[in-house]
Amino acid sequence: MLDNKISIVTGGARGIGRVIAEQLASQKSKVFVWDIIKLKTQTTLRVPELKTQIVDITNLKEVEDTIKSIGDIDILINNAGINIDKLLLRMEEKDWDKVIDVNLKGVFNCTKSCVPFMLKKRWGRIINISSVIGIIGNKAQANYAASKAGIMGFTKSIAKEYASRNITCNAIAPGYIETDMTANLPQAVKDAYLSVIPLKRAGTPEDVANLVSFLVSDAASYITGQVINIDGGMVM
Ligand code: NDP
Repeated sequence: MLDNKISIVTGGARGIGRVIAEQLASQKSKVFVWDIIKLKTQTTLRVPELKTQIVDITNLKEVEDTIKSIGDIDILINNAGINIDKLLLRMEEKDWDKVIDVNLKGVFNCTKSCVPFMLKKRWGRIINISSVIGIIGNKAQANYAASKAGIMGFTKSIAKEYASRNITCNAIAPGYIETDMTANLPQAVKDAYLSVIPLKRAGTPEDVANLVSFLVSDAASYITGQVINIDGGMVM
């Protein structure tokens, strides 16, 4: 149980983040859901006690101000992420910048702003949602793969910097998970993924949220600086 623990889940209005937020709330954490989706946010969340805040994680000042207004933080789930998939020669500078800005700089902004509060308590849990694509790469995803690989290096550095203060930092690398992000993939691409997944199914947001729940629990207090794949055996 996470009684009295305050959590932030970025990009938590839908998809994987929404289920992570709901699971943390069901364990009695006070959860702040950050997203850039405006009107839909309150109505899409199925747990009314979640607190929703409109925060663009690419804006450091906005992130810092919101964390100061909360005044405390124990658990940070850096989940928000986007993809703009194009082959390198068609990828424009703005496609590169946008994906790196949200997926990598957003993780920097939120982590940098939360760590001072965790240092004071000498306790903290940071979970960064990366991707197996950051390990194996993918055609038309150079920007996304680079951002997700960057998260892995960031995770290990933060784990080393703050381990002495009882702050753990781990990354999760999901494989093919059924969410809005993957819903519009052509059937041929979905079939290609399924053909290389030994467990022969797509993952669910619940699969990922279950791992998050474990990593923030006391049972995982000796795990830090790790990248844990959750992909049905796709990458091993
Ligand atoms: P979704 O697209 O369903 O949800 C992502 C959420 O993040 C959206 O609500 C989105 O809002 C929000 N968001 C985007 N930009 C910002 C921002 N600047 N500030 C705050 N919130 C923002 O994605 P998933 O649930 O599928 O993915 C969640 C994470 O898991 C991502 O990091 C993704 O890369 C990763 N992942 C997903 C996999 C999958 O198969 N689904 C596989 C591997 C990793 P909006 O819609 O308005 O942009």
